Amino acid sequence: MACSAAAAAAGAGATALLCRRPAPSLIAGRNRLAVSRRPRHRNLRTGAQPPQKSTPSANYRYRVNIQRDRAGASSDDEDQQESEDENGLPNIQLEELVGMIQNTEKNILLLNQARLQALERADKILKEKEALQQEVNILEIKLSETGAQPKLSSKGMSDAEALEFDVLKEENMLLKDDITFFKAKLIEITETEESLFKLEKERALLDASLRELECAFIAAQSDMLKLGPMQHDAWWEKVENLEELLETTANQVEHAALILDGYHDFQDKVDKLEASLGARNISEFCLYLVDLLKKRVKSIEEHFQACNREMHSQIELYEHSIVEFHDTLSKLIKESEKKSMEHYAEGMPSEFWSRISLLIDGWSLEKKISNNDANILREMAWKRDNRLREAYLSSRGMAERELIDSFLKMALPGTSSGLHIVHIAAEMAPVAKVGGLADVISGLGKALQKKGNLVEIILPKYDCMQHNQINNLKVLDVVVQSYFEGNMFANKIWTGTVEGLPIYFIEPQHPGKFFWRAQYYGEHDDFKRFSYFSRVALELLYQSGKKVDIIHCHDWQTAFVAPLYWDVYANLGFNSARICFTCHNFEYQGTAPAQDLAYCGLDVEHLDRPDRMRDNSHGRINVVKGAIVYSNIVTTVSPTYAQEVRSEGGRGLQDTLKIHSKKFVGILNGIDTDTWNPSTDRFLKVQYSANDLYGKSANKAALRKQLKMSSANASQPLVGCITRLVPQKGVHLIRHAIYKTAELGGQFVLLGSSPVPNIQREFEGIADQFKNNSNIRLLLKYDDALSHMIFAASDMFIVPSMFEPCGLTQMIAMRYGSVPVVRKTGGLNDSVFDFDDETIPIELRNGFTFSKADEQGFDSALERAFNYYHRKPEVWKQLVQKDMKIDFSWDTSASQYEDIYQRAAARARAAT
Ligand code: ADP
Repeated sequence: MACSAAAAAAGAGATALLCRRPAPSLIAGRNRLAVSRRPRHRNLRTGAQPPQKSTPSANYRYRVNIQRDRAGASSDDEDQQESEDENGLPNIQLEELVGMIQNTEKNILLLNQARLQALERADKILKEKEALQQEVNILEIKLSETGAQPKLSSKGMSDAEALEFDVLKEENMLLKDDITFFKAKLIEITETEESLFKLEKERALLDASLRELECAFIAAQSDMLKLGPMQHDAWWEKVENLEELLETTANQVEHAALILDGYHDFQDKVDKLEASLGARNISEFCLYLVDLLKKRVKSIEEHFQACNREMHSQIELYEHSIVEFHDTLSKLIKESEKKSMEHYAEGMPSEFWSRISLLIDGWSLEKKISNNDANILREMAWKRDNRLREAYLSSRGMAERELIDSFLKMALPGTSSGLHIVHIAAEMAPVAKVGGLADVISGLGKALQKKGNLVEIILPKYDCMQHNQINNLKVLDVVVQSYFEGNMFANKIWTGTVEGLPIYFIEPQHPGKFFWRAQYYGEHDDFKRFSYFSRVALELLYQSGKKVDIIHCHDWQTAFVAPLYWDVYANLGFNSARICFTCHNFEYQGTAPAQDLAYCGLDVEHLDRPDRMRDNSHGRINVVKGAIVYSNIVTTVSPTYAQEVRSEGGRGLQDTLKIHSKKFVGILNGIDTDTWNPSTDRFLKVQYSANDLYGKSANKAALRKQLKMSSANASQPLVGCITRLVPQKGVHLIRHAIYKTAELGGQFVLLGSSPVPNIQREFEGIADQFKNNSNIRLLLKYDDALSHMIFAASDMFIVPSMFEPCGLTQMIAMRYGSVPVVRKTGGLNDSVFDFDDETIPIELRNGFTFSKADEQGFDSALERAFNYYHRKPEVWKQLVQKDMKIDFSWDTSASQYEDIYQRAAARARAAT
């Protein structure tokens, strides 16, 4: 009984310990048992002391001890009385004796009772002993099953064996408690899993609400487009924030899922350990397991709590952002509604329409518009046509002429307010590019398309063009038969889109294989090749039955279109269109013996005349002259160049231009600001903008590395030049610039190739000369990607042209923050204004210019640029930023083209 009580006490203590402290060692277990045993012995020896615990057995022990002590006390009294009798009290009264006897009897009675109780107690002890023996037997069996312990027997056990037996028993108890404890932990883990499951559910809900938000984004996008750019930015900032938040939450959830997996692992381990606990010697593993499991449980608990906290804070943050986002969204929607209401209210008052009617009447009376157009416009105003309202509202601040033109666009027959414009050209960027012509076709085409016109482009199908730049290229199921050299030849027609523009590619089935030459120009039969192409292009339009408004041809290669249209196709009834011819460079005029005109079906006799196509200085025919004579509109690519070509720059065509000056105009080219945009340019190492120039220096460092140039001095200026190496471009000044830059301590990168073998060889020699100089690089090839990097990396950009119809590189350079150093000629004069020229408004000054086409002129401009760069870095930075912000887009120039197209189209309508 004492053993089991002690063991029970020890077991209870062990459980308590397990719950609060690390698991005891086996030695500590034994100590605890010994301590527990001591009070038992003490209680037995000092029976009179009050029990420490009021267990039934202890109470019983206490009561027996008192009775025994009391019995002891009575017998002492009697002994004392007897001696008194013997010591002079012989006359003890009988009564007293009787009393004594009675007391003795009572005492005997009490003793008997005590004996009976003792017997009962002994009986109980025997029963308890038997029960204990049974327990011992069970333990023996269990232990013998583990195979590790000797068999125990109550009989013949030594003290040491009994002690060991007690220890084992206690360990068993401890293990039982431990397993119970682990089970409790497993329950906790299951609960943890449940909460993770809940979190996963929350995530799913969040996902669903995100999807809803995405729908809301899409639905709200149209509203957003009506709002100003500032609000748009705020919107996207919100969207980006939400996206970031979603990503973080998703990461958290993923993290939680990982932990969940960890829990599964852990649970597996616990299960395995439990199994091995049952199967192996428990006492050898228990401590290790307890330690291991406790540590794992603790770390998992901590991990889970941290994760839980983080997820909740993320969810809170996310919820907060959603609320904020909804607020912003509803605010924006309200503003949008307000704006559209204002817009609506602005357009609707009768007074507004009355004013429009009066305006139209005024123009009609002043003969600014025809009666026919006035009638159409009046009817539109009467019907309160929204297109008129839009045109009027968006023309605020415009000159009257522009307003009239924008109204006239709507007076065109049919429903579309735009024009049908077809460009016929030999190049188009990026699919077939040699120089600036290619950029103009795509840039102008895109800008005109954006303004609501139907723009189509017809190109030769060159074998060497960049096919990967064409979307949806496919051959049509028709063959266009076209005249050439007295025969009809089939032509395959391919279609596809480039930069969003619809393109027709013509593939001649002519034995001359005109566009299978692995190059664009420079073939012995170029005149034939392009006269053939011009004829098929018109044939295609004619056969398609289109009612085109404007046919725009470019340079000598497609100049044939103008006389062909008026002399051949107009006679066939294909005459709705008006012809616009742009000469991008009067250096190239397309001359040939007169009879060569006949190849494409032109009447040589009819055209070989001084007022038609005969060249002004020799007996050949001149196709550019023919286009000037036969086109309705003639343009060139900058106002200054338009002036220059009226004299010397006309290369013999100045007189023709003077005769046709009424239809001749110079319109400055723009650049395609989508293609040339440093903040989105995919060819750059780092994109950048005027407000964040870090990327510019990063690109400079990257280019230096790429070209194995010195990177020792980050602020060493880098001078760039990208050009065709032809005399027009000032080849001698480009060569001089290389040496001058080296002398000034700068770096120089040239990207260019030459169709002129001598020039190509000369530059190869220079490249060789500088091949070990880490500050100079000459890359004598055509490389579009590299050109983007050079624009971005260079600090200065030279264009020392002898003449330059427009020039695009100076504009592209400025857009990339590279300050131009140019000769004042042609389009360079219209786009670069000297930084030190006080006669020019300061806000326009954007580069360094020189006039005389000599080395001194060039040196003075380059030295001034170097001076500012080195000595006034702040001023330089402002100049760079200013240049980057200049609007060189096609917007303005395309409007000018649209304007002249409109007038020509209106005249065409008036003529029919
Ligand atoms: P041009 O039309 O007389 O050649 P422009 O300045 O009008 O001169 O246009 C030249 C165009 O060709 C620019 O877009 C320029 O970047 C590009 N270009 C010229 N040479 C190269 C080259 N070697 N590699 C890549 N692009 C070039």
